[in-house]
Amino acid sequence: MHTIQNFINGAHVPPKNGLYLDNFNPATGEISGKIPDSSMEDVEDAVRAAAAAFPVWVNTSLEHKQEILIAIANGILQNLDMLAEAESADSGKTVITARTIDIPRAALNFKFFATGLLHFASESHHAPGTLSYTLRQPIGVVGCISPWNLPLYLFSWKIAPALAAGNCVVGKPSEVTPLTASLLGDICNAAGLPPGVLNIVHGLGPQVGEAIVRHPKIKAISFTGSTRAGAEIARIAAPMFKKLSLELGGKNPNLIFADCDYEKMLETTVRSSFNNQGQICLCGSRIYVEKSIYPKFKKDFVERVQELKIGNPSDPINNLGAVVSKLHFEKVLHCIELAKEEGGIILTGGTAIQIPTPFDKGWYIAPTVIEGLSCECRTNQEEIFGPVVTIQPFDQDAEVLELANNTPYGLSATVWTNNLQRAHFFAENLQTGIVWVNTWMLRDLRTPFGGVKNSGVGREGGWEALRFFTEAKNVTFG
Ligand code: NAD
Repeated sequence: MHTIQNFINGAHVPPKNGLYLDNFNPATGEISGKIPDSSMEDVEDAVRAAAAAFPVWVNTSLEHKQEILIAIANGILQNLDMLAEAESADSGKTVITARTIDIPRAALNFKFFATGLLHFASESHHAPGTLSYTLRQPIGVVGCISPWNLPLYLFSWKIAPALAAGNCVVGKPSEVTPLTASLLGDICNAAGLPPGVLNIVHGLGPQVGEAIVRHPKIKAISFTGSTRAGAEIARIAAPMFKKLSLELGGKNPNLIFADCDYEKMLETTVRSSFNNQGQICLCGSRIYVEKSIYPKFKKDFVERVQELKIGNPSDPINNLGAVVSKLHFEKVLHCIELAKEEGGIILTGGTAIQIPTPFDKGWYIAPTVIEGLSCECRTNQEEIFGPVVTIQPFDQDAEVLELANNTPYGLSATVWTNNLQRAHFFAENLQTGIVWVNTWMLRDLRTPFGGVKNSGVGREGGWEALRFFTEAKNVTFG
């Protein structure tokens, strides 16, 4: 049983109110430790520490900032196994997923922005008799709030550019998966990050998250999570004129045409449906298949899905572990029931899975494939964020474009075709922030990342992130 603490001013400190929340291991359904149930007072301490550290950090040379961020990246990689096990124990994902995706990417986030900060430049504008240049100055103290599905990966995706741009951070990881963020504190200390530059306050969204959003000294909020919480954050922050980056939910379409590379498409579609138990914001949950290959796809896809192994996340034989929490487990099962009520036919899965002791109380759901649902039904409109996908046939390009765009969300889409013109047509006309053609989750960290419609506002990644975490000031000489 672990008890983690807040990380404020370079030290692990208990919450001021002395209260703690239970931390669960989804694989066993049992309590694995305690985490601070922090309050506004802890956020206040964190902001004070961050504000005091800002003059030190902002005046640290770019080269030294780079050295520290690279040392953090190396510290993450040196602790790869420990962090991967912690991530798995906290979230239910397989250790292999954490070891090959989450933790290496967290290290890469720091490395990437460590390099970026030396290359980041601002514009100048010349005209006869005039010279203007743009100063890109760090904002000061910024808030970073992250979700449970890719805990350290997404936490560091915000913290790394915030620090690289010269800000000090008050961060809040999800209360469901706080463990790797708390381990990051020691890694930052060992890397030489000055105390107070990164502060981590644990606790519930409506308490700690909201206290960060409301704090008058925190001038920018980078948030990844649900559309519901994003809307609440926007409501609070907008009248305070804070900078906001909101990465929210999705209901991503996969468009599969008969002219695609079938085997690559099939293998990738199994991954894009069920990787991390379907709990990646980029997973494709609505699969549209051209009518001529629909029967073959349906048979092959269901067969492949039935081959997936579910169970103990530490056993490398398993492809899927547990879903993240009891609440989420019940939500996903409820969504499957709703799909049945809406007339959906369960082709495979559709139920919880009982794994032998000591995993018998864990939260496991069979990868589920549903057909026979309309585009308008709730199952095809609302985010489930679990191992559940729907499949449906289509006839025409125009028809599938309309189906794909017909949700309130617009995060990502995947198009499977070898027809170049068709690929460009869909890339241009899909209402999403990201389009993958003949691939999925291939990420170049220089590219803009984010969604449109109810999937968010603003972009992360590359220069976009460094621009978000700086204020542009125009200076003009006459
Ligand atoms: P969530 O919105 O419940 O919580 C996310 C974070 O926000 C947590 O740290 C939580 O404590 C905090 N929070 C909750 N309410 C808050 C409030 N009122 N004020 C401030 N902070 C608050 O989301 P979740 O369940 O942790 O994560 C799943 C969601 O995240 C899904 O909708 C998924 O699509 C989305 N997501 C989006 C992306 C993306 O890049 N667009 C990536 C990953 C996950």
